[in-house]
Amino acid sequence: MSSSPSRSGSVPRHKWTDWRWQMQNRIHSAEALRKWIRPTDDERAAIKRAGDAFRWNVTPYYAHLMAPDDPSCPVRRQAVPTMDEFGPDIVDELDPLDETGHEPVKNLIHNYEDRVAFCVTAECAIYCRYCLRKRMVGDAEYFMRTDEHQAAIDYIAAHDEIRDVLLTGGDPLTFNEANLEWLLSRLRAIDHVELIRFGSRMPVKLPYRITDDLCDLLAQYHPLWINTHFNHPKECTGDAAAAIGRLKDAGIPVGNQTVLLRGVNDDPDTMKALNEGLVRMRVRPYYLYQAQIIGGTGHLRTPIEVGMHIMRQLRGRTSGFAIPDYVLDTPHGKVPLNRSYVKGRAGDHVLMESYDGTLWAEPNPVPEGRDLPFRLPPVDLPPDVDTIPTNGSLEARPASA
Ligand SMILES: *Cc1c(COP(=O)(O)O)cnc(C)c1O
Repeated sequence: MSSSPSRSGSVPRHKWTDWRWQMQNRIHSAEALRKWIRPTDDERAAIKRAGDAFRWNVTPYYAHLMAPDDPSCPVRRQAVPTMDEFGPDIVDELDPLDETGHEPVKNLIHNYEDRVAFCVTAECAIYCRYCLRKRMVGDAEYFMRTDEHQAAIDYIAAHDEIRDVLLTGGDPLTFNEANLEWLLSRLRAIDHVELIRFGSRMPVKLPYRITDDLCDLLAQYHPLWINTHFNHPKECTGDAAAAIGRLKDAGIPVGNQTVLLRGVNDDPDTMKALNEGLVRMRVRPYYLYQAQIIGGTGHLRTPIEVGMHIMRQLRGRTSGFAIPDYVLDTPHGKVPLNRSYVKGRAGDHVLMESYDGTLWAEPNPVPEGRDLPFRLPPVDLPPDVDTIPTNGSLEARPASA
């Protein structure tokens, strides 16, 4: 994809690629958005209402990826509100993970014993319409003062079981280098903090934020990992790939967390193209999230069976490392949503199904007196067991094996 804006007209390249210019020139109104797309009546009405419910704005860069005349454009669906946001939903929930119930200090979520999610800011370059943290992002009340950042750092320092600190938000890379250095140097000074990681969507919505200066700064705080958030192959632009390249060249492993979204990526072909696009950029797909049950996002959620089917279609049909884990986050942690390939135990065999549906019976006798950590469901080998492939019959193996 071309790296220069197709419809930016008068904006010179050096301004267009300046992240501060992009932040300062974010689009806040249907009127301004008309420079890029023809908003529908529904989108225009929703943009007017969005301010009250959940802040709305878009970077010019992300707007230039939108299809001007197609409201079903996957980029548009993620970032431009529609009246569906204000229609009935099955829930009115704004905090499905009970994050507020797991915050020992403001904006620090300590749910797993050994790691914390630290929402260092409520600011984002773009407010994704399905945002998990709708309750706080874009809201001045959740922006943090220095003493509040310090309180969270003090909590981390006082808890030596915390070995992994995830900086998230909002988007932590909305901070300038001086603020990032302030945070990173304080976290690195804590002996038990082994890993620092960022959750940031900047490579997707504002790739110019990933400057050489930023990468030089981050590289001083290794081991430092980044997870980003691509949802559709259209987002894998030349500029995004260049941003990822700068992070990788600074030695930063980059993973990706996708949210399964109706009309955006809820089919096997799109998901395969997305994950293959990611690994071409050297990004490792990490999680595919089931969309959280958050009020006003019902039009973007899918049945869990859709996600399980997509996962089944990826396995065996693309590189193993192009396949993320499909998970649902809950107040009790992330739950993998797998349709198990392992059917159960039939005596001395474990019966399983391969990616293409072939049954396989693996000879796997349990040694006499051995306590199993758990029991597979008992299954019968089908009557046509002789036709089930196996890597050798038990009887044929030498007694010493
Ligand atoms: C997702 C999450 C983490 C990180 O979990 P990983 O599975 O290690 O990526 C940490 N804390 C909270 C509260 C989270 O939601």
